[in-house]
Amino acid sequence: MITEPAIIVNQVAQLEKDILENLYSIQGKSRDLATTNDWYMAVAYTVRNRLMKNWIDTLHGLMDKEVKLVGYLSAEFLVGPHLGNALINLGIYDEVKEATQRLGLDLRQLMDIEEEPGLGNGGLGRLAACFIDSLTTLKVPAIGYGIRYEFGLFEQQIRDGWQFEVTDKWLRFGNPWEIARTELSFTVKIGGHTEHYTDEMGLYSARWIPEIEVKGVAYDTPVPGYQNNKVNFLRLWKSEAIESFDFEAFNRGDYSKAVDEKVYSENIGKVLYPNDEPLAGRRLRLSQQYFFVSCSIQDVLRLHELRGLPIDQLPDSMALQLNDTHPSIAVAELMRILIDEKQVDWDRAWRITKNTFAYTNHTLLPEALEKWPLSLFASLLPRHLEIIYEINSRSLAEVKSLYPGDDHIARSLSIIDEEGEKYVRMAHLACVGSHMVNGVSDLHADLLKKDVMRDFYNMTPEKFIGITNGVTPRRWLKLYSPGLSSLISDKIGEGWLTHMEDEIIKLEPLADDPAFQQKWQETKRTYKNELSIQVSRMSGVRIDPASMFDVMVKRIHEYKRQHLNVFHIIHLYNRIKKNPGLDIVPRTFIFGGKAAPGYHMAKLIIKLIHSVGEVVNNDGDVDGRLKVIFFPDFNVKSSEWVYRSADLSEQISTAGKEASGTGNMKFSMNGALTIGTMDGANIEIMDAAGKENFFLFGLTVEDIQALRKTGYRPFDLYQNDEDLREIIDRLQSGEFSRGDKHLFKPLVDSLLGNDPYFVLQDFHSYADCQQNISNAFLDRSHWTRMSILNVARMGKFSSDRSIREYCNKIWNVKPSY
Ligand SMILES: *Cc1c(COP(=O)(O)O)cnc(C)c1O
Repeated sequence: MITEPAIIVNQVAQLEKDILENLYSIQGKSRDLATTNDWYMAVAYTVRNRLMKNWIDTLHGLMDKEVKLVGYLSAEFLVGPHLGNALINLGIYDEVKEATQRLGLDLRQLMDIEEEPGLGNGGLGRLAACFIDSLTTLKVPAIGYGIRYEFGLFEQQIRDGWQFEVTDKWLRFGNPWEIARTELSFTVKIGGHTEHYTDEMGLYSARWIPEIEVKGVAYDTPVPGYQNNKVNFLRLWKSEAIESFDFEAFNRGDYSKAVDEKVYSENIGKVLYPNDEPLAGRRLRLSQQYFFVSCSIQDVLRLHELRGLPIDQLPDSMALQLNDTHPSIAVAELMRILIDEKQVDWDRAWRITKNTFAYTNHTLLPEALEKWPLSLFASLLPRHLEIIYEINSRSLAEVKSLYPGDDHIARSLSIIDEEGEKYVRMAHLACVGSHMVNGVSDLHADLLKKDVMRDFYNMTPEKFIGITNGVTPRRWLKLYSPGLSSLISDKIGEGWLTHMEDEIIKLEPLADDPAFQQKWQETKRTYKNELSIQVSRMSGVRIDPASMFDVMVKRIHEYKRQHLNVFHIIHLYNRIKKNPGLDIVPRTFIFGGKAAPGYHMAKLIIKLIHSVGEVVNNDGDVDGRLKVIFFPDFNVKSSEWVYRSADLSEQISTAGKEASGTGNMKFSMNGALTIGTMDGANIEIMDAAGKENFFLFGLTVEDIQALRKTGYRPFDLYQNDEDLREIIDRLQSGEFSRGDKHLFKPLVDSLLGNDPYFVLQDFHSYADCQQNISNAFLDRSHWTRMSILNVARMGKFSSDRSIREYCNKIWNVKPSY
């Protein structure tokens, strides 16, 4: 569709007028007094107003009982900056750019000051954001339910190579993207005890007398679909006190008691927990989870009643997805409300609950499977514990009838972990209380069935499926790589933005086209130049944009194996030190990612990266052929510079540990080639791209199982392998740590002791593969061909495909586009 120039001019003039109007009426500033933030706010409100009509239409649509609604329950939504995304999805980027220009502003500069809502840790929270984007683009009515944390994930600062955490005050300058629905709030009970009695009908009933009640207030944030006039929204709950001030206590002279309840209530939604920390004993975290789940379930039932449908039809009017176990208390909460407050009998309540919920498992790491000490659970949620006991005893009765006399299986399937200190296993609750359970890649679903949830799978195999994750091509290609996107659209049109699976493959015939290859290279090179400028501004280190950009950005974790990457760097350094004239392909190693504040080994890995960088970057023998960069505070906003600039994407987790990965997809969609293990979605990316366009190395899940059986002895590898010995000896020599021989001891001890993630075992396969990559990089035309083919074949990894699968296989709703 071609818009008349006159209409565009009018639109730009109107935008300009609206921006000025909002500057006056909302920010209360004149042009002369306005700060950059004032202008940003004025532009943001101008754009938000253009979402309003469609947003209000959606709210009306919620009352339509013919349309099934998806509720996506997630403790994290890592949506990234709103402005750019809204401009792309509304299709008014160029117009707003021109309007701001006319006002003497630079749109880019305005976008740069937006604070990102960092309401997620990484992949899981970002997946929730991509999913809501796709749901809206596919015109599926949906609400993303979560928590309006006052502070998101900490901001990462680096001092002397160590990570320091700074509070993320993202709401400091106001948030123009949310609407506080102060009249929409729910009461959430916490603590106390239960009472049992016989009601006037002679029915045995339970009553929950809480210790405290807090209030959850809805804050809605619009999520626009891609140029389709649809807007869904996130509904994030803010915790508040019901009474902000206890006058009785105040009048007694007890001032601190007078504000106690306010402090307690507000603490619930105060801060997002960084993951990877042991959760046992985290009372506040369980309160957080219950708080947002209770508000969300109450809201869901309110909407259902507004639709005028009988309660038994809940599963037909709503599909509720549990994004990991964080919201899994919802199973017990819905049962509690149905039974205690709506007088539904157990069997009906259970049928409704089970058919409404589905559960997505995100991890196989045993330490990340949530379980709560029974005592903590009982003190916070006494009524839920009773209900869970009842769910468990009925579920175990079924187990026992299927496997008579098999105590082992009953123990393994129980929701209560009875070995030693007793725990509530949230994954078991989620599984028993859902009609579908899905893994997030083919391999991960397989391992769920064979391993983590084997006994559940054997009992109800039809419940278990895999739906491979995806990412939205709107943010990850069109918004963050506009040059590459135009190049693609110029050749194959814009259909790929909404029909990626069918359309982007049309690039394939261009992979060998020399003119296209050249434009492709130039575009990638522009991005590398920009990142180089950004890096030198941030860290003062000059990098060569002609070198291979070898990039590893993701949370820092031993299973992801950033240290394996560092070992390869040290290996190359050793080779240069032995032979300074060595002919090698120059590389820039770029790392980024946060470590959980309590995860000491991860923090030491950050220090290791900086320490190796300090030596390698400044050694005259290296002569600039190797550079090591740490890109601080990696988040959705800063990732704009990173994914698109990569030549090589590092996806090197120990096989069987990464459930899917989504960073792997973003890189590949942006034309990076991947060095990867047979893990998570890497396998499917390789299958799609073709083995010849992917650099595979390392042990498979089966290899690792076999090695564990025969006995893995990493110390033997150290003794017998010269390359490994040189790397580790150099680490222990203090050369990278200004003479401190002990700095990296915890890391070295772990690797030589038991090396739980098989770093030493995989090293040689990795280093050999890296050598092949260097050789391949020398043939520019062939490399570019592989890069184009990777992009052309990534259609499957659009989150639109993932959402279509959820719609068909789990939610029973019809997407349309
Ligand atoms: C995509 C993304 C992740 C997930 O990366 P993985 O490589 O899959 O671990 C983490 N953080 C941010 C900011 C992301 O955008």
